[in-house]
Order: sequence, then structure tokens, then C-alpha cells
Amino acid sequence: MKTKQPAHLKPGDIAILGVPSDENSSFMFGSAKAPPLIRKALHCGSSNLFSELGVDLETADRLQDIGDLELKNGTEGFGQIVAGISDLISNGVKPLVLGGDHAITYPIMKVMGAKYKQLNVLHFDAHPDLYDHYEGNKLAHGCPFARIMEEKLAGRLVQLGIRTLNDHQKEQSVRFNTEIIEARDIDLNINFNFDGPLYVSLDMDVLDPAFAPGISHHEPGGLSVREVLTIIQNIEVPIIGADIVEYNPDRDINDMTAMVAAKFLKELAGKMLT
Ligand code: MN
Ligand code: MN
Repeated sequence: MKTKQPAHLKPGDIAILGVPSDENSSFMFGSAKAPPLIRKALHCGSSNLFSELGVDLETADRLQDIGDLELKNGTEGFGQIVAGISDLISNGVKPLVLGGDHAITYPIMKVMGAKYKQLNVLHFDAHPDLYDHYEGNKLAHGCPFARIMEEKLAGRLVQLGIRTLNDHQKEQSVRFNTEIIEARDIDLNINFNFDGPLYVSLDMDVLDPAFAPGISHHEPGGLSVREVLTIIQNIEVPIIGADIVEYNPDRDINDMTAMVAAKFLKELAGKMLT
């Protein structure tokens, strides 16, 4: 893995890109501080840079860390995210994004959904994030998948690990025809039968807070780290982009959640490289 300027990327490369935005969070802020701490955990001397499936990220020339976007507030910031992802996609580079809160997935998907028709999306989360608005904010981190489905930026949306379904979000799921697999129904042998390229959006709060306390919305009854790793490792279609969002360092204990985010980064990068 090298640190590079975006101008030096080649088609087929995978770019790790930090998107430090948490202005659309609710309840708590802090996830904008996540990207440098996930990188620090990734390079921590306590582990190595091999994925469990045997891919060495250290020597992978196709994996590049291009640093963080410098973001302004509001719609201007969203425009910068769209522009940053467009730069990568137009050069055939696959983004591996470190959030930030989950609101950033909408501007990312504006680019991904335009590039890949009928894109499959696998969304790990305690929450369906399908609210029409949150306290008047249509761009809030509880709304990205409503915007994505309204604009038909995903052909198929599978939402995994959900355990906060209310009536409104159930109605939204029916309206947008999303496929919700609640945490209580998790089956590790599930075959999603994706028919083409896949985007993975991984909200760290899909995990039980016992595994990942460094998140804003503690929702007990979540998945284990092992379960999420197994599901990622079993993906059989090409992953053309991914994000890891909602790590909140302000809530972390001994950087344990940063290590989990770095572990997911390793496995996703490993899958994207093969
Ligand atoms: Mn989310
Ligand atoms: Mn969530």
C-alpha cells in the first residue's frame, strides 16, 4: 500500500479515501474524527497487513491511500464528495471510503449509481436509514437510503442486521422494495444471488455494542465481528466500492472499535483486490 496523489492512480486501483463529515448526524457527533484513527489502527504494530483470505495489503501496488477530502459544510461539502468520487470512478478506480457519518453514502452513490446501472448494494446497519427526513433534514444520516432509492441509484438494496424497524421505515422499505434481513433472522449461509457488481456500505453499529462501543447509537442485539467478516468473505461478485461509516472515536474504549474498523477495511480491501 502506498500513499499517493489521485493523479497517479491507474484504472483498477483501489483508493482508500477519508470523508470526514459528521454534520448530518443526530444524537451525537464525532465520526468526522474517524479516518486518521482507523488508519492508525490499520498500521498498528500489534497486527499485520494480511487479510484473513491471504491478501497482503502491504505489498499490494493496486491499493493506494489518497488521504482525506477537505470538506466545506452543507451542500457544498456534498458536492465535494461527489466530485472526489467522480475523479476516482472516471479513472476506473474503486473507492474504499472511511467516514464520517452515514449521510456520506448518498453523494457517493450519486456517482456509483450513475456509473453502474442496476447496482447491487449490501448495507450493514442496525438502522434502515430510510427516513424521509430527520427533523426536517432530508440529508440526515438516518435518510441516505431513502434518497438513494428515490433517485434509483441502486437496482437492489439488501439491508442486513436491522433491529430498529418502526412503522414509517417499514412503509418506506415496502415503497422502495428494499430487502431487509433483520438481526434476529441472520443466517450465515445466506446466498444473496447478486447478479453483478456490488457496493458495500458498512455502518459500524451493525455490530453489537459489546464488540464496537465507539459508535453514536448503541443498539444491543447486533452482529458479532466474526459474523460480519464471514458475510464479507462469502461475497462472490466483484465489489466495486465500499464505505465504512459511523465509527465515533469519542465513544471508543482503548481504540477497540478503531481496530474493528481497520479489520473490516483489511477484509474489504482484500476482497476488492482479488
Ligand atoms: Mn447507518
Ligand atoms: Mn446505524
